[in-house]
Amino acid sequence: MAIVQTVEGTSGGRRRMRIANPVTAEPIGELAVATAEDVRAAVARARLAQPGWEALGARGRATIVKRVLELVLERQEHVIDVIVRETGRSRFETIMMEIFPACDSLSYYAKHAEKVLADRAVPMHLLRTKKLIVTYRPLGVVGIITPWNGPFILSLNPTVQALMAGNAVVVKPSEVTPFSGRLVGELFREAGLPPDVLTILEGDGETGTALVDAGVDKISFTGSVRTGRKVGEACGRNLIPCTLELGGKDPMVVCGDADPSRAARGAVFGAFMNAGQFCCSTERVYVVDAIADEFTRLVVEETKALKLGTVGEFDIGPMIWPKQLETIERHVADAIAKGAHVLAGGKRATTVGGLFYEPTVLVDVTHDMAVMREETFGPILPIVRVRDENEAIRLANDTTYGLSSNLWTRDEDKAIRLSKQLCSGSVCVNDSSITYGAIEAPFGGRRTSGVGQVNGEAGMRGYCFAQPILLDRFQAKQEYVWYPYTAAKAKTLQRAMRWIWGTPLGRWLM
Ligand code: NAD
Repeated sequence: MAIVQTVEGTSGGRRRMRIANPVTAEPIGELAVATAEDVRAAVARARLAQPGWEALGARGRATIVKRVLELVLERQEHVIDVIVRETGRSRFETIMMEIFPACDSLSYYAKHAEKVLADRAVPMHLLRTKKLIVTYRPLGVVGIITPWNGPFILSLNPTVQALMAGNAVVVKPSEVTPFSGRLVGELFREAGLPPDVLTILEGDGETGTALVDAGVDKISFTGSVRTGRKVGEACGRNLIPCTLELGGKDPMVVCGDADPSRAARGAVFGAFMNAGQFCCSTERVYVVDAIADEFTRLVVEETKALKLGTVGEFDIGPMIWPKQLETIERHVADAIAKGAHVLAGGKRATTVGGLFYEPTVLVDVTHDMAVMREETFGPILPIVRVRDENEAIRLANDTTYGLSSNLWTRDEDKAIRLSKQLCSGSVCVNDSSITYGAIEAPFGGRRTSGVGQVNGEAGMRGYCFAQPILLDRFQAKQEYVWYPYTAAKAKTLQRAMRWIWGTPLGRWLM
């Protein structure tokens, strides 16, 4: 995998884990699981380092982040090598999914932080003797816990935002792909980030649990619903804010007026990118009867043309670990047992070795099948033929998830109307779900797909506390509402209320 095995014995009292390549199963390295004591020590060091980092100001911090960008560009072959070695995916996909968005994140937040986090004067509608300034103060120390399916970008992107907001950061990358997370730390160190402002702690759930309980000021978690629930509960107990970016079962809605060729290609890319191991991958398709035959034929044709591989030019890489293959096999077997038909794929791919599953198209699927209800996180594309768009929207919303969706039509007004009917964190129209890559867009899930939103201006401000500073403008001897309380003052206040909210002029002024 990044096949993870617990190795016999410990190193300095820490459990050791061995990581293997998902294609060759050869060991590619080991990690020592950071203990609760390691985590507490890292958070304590981060807390001491944070004020100095904050004092640099957004412009000073941006200098270091821009240097990281230069390093990523200079060292991109090495960065790609590290990610490919532990994920097995193609170089193109690694550049597209990880390196390109990493460069964008580093550049965007370095460039915009000063403006986004600047003090804001807010005009007062009522208390006109006051002046309001909203300032954005860093929270302090932010804990970031990340998954294996985008091991570099999902560790780097929240880290950049939290750092640019003036926080110190402790990151716990996935134990399945620890080396990409380690690389993020190395790049920042080399770029001149002061010691202890960023610590990468390697480990598994034990380390993650300890981080949530280590006295940090916020947790940014990306991972499964199951773990997210535990993290959310612990954050509630500790009374700290968190964002939870969790799993999905993203629907694709294809309207009768959609371009069937573009929609079919988009479906294939949306479902099979990263071998389906993408939080926003298309996991269910609802296509309107009028174009269902042509759409399905094209999807099958495109799917059969995909190339599985391990080196050179190929489209589909391996599953990250055996657990993932087992889930896929269970979903496909359950669907077939309940009446689904396989139009492409449908089994493990034996010709390439490693943990491969053939890109699979299923039809005659229904919502009583696991493949339509649970996150598969694999290269499976189930297609449902529906009467009309209303039925498509109803079925798309028939889920406990709500991460993202994609909708295909030539009519923009209809696209916006139907998008608003989808219970979904975001909607992409005439493209697969790529919102995470659109930095300006707030990104997050509804229902069990998450809590809070990340990215963009609001995402970066989410690593701050918005502190209002209310200044009195005239400093009169005393305020009207201060002591003494008198009946005459009560009458005046009541008269004022009647004028302010009881007359057209008063209401207009408010
Ligand atoms: P996971 O929940 O198993 O693990 C995620 C991280 O949490 C890992 O670093 C893990 O070590 C750590 N962890 C495990 N137990 C913990 C605990 N009790 N307390 C704190 N941390 C703990 O998820 P995964 O299998 O690594 O990732 C795949 C999942 O992530 C999929 O469901 C996918 O949809 C989701 N995901 C969501 C997004 C998003 O932005 N919404 C992005 C990528 C992946």
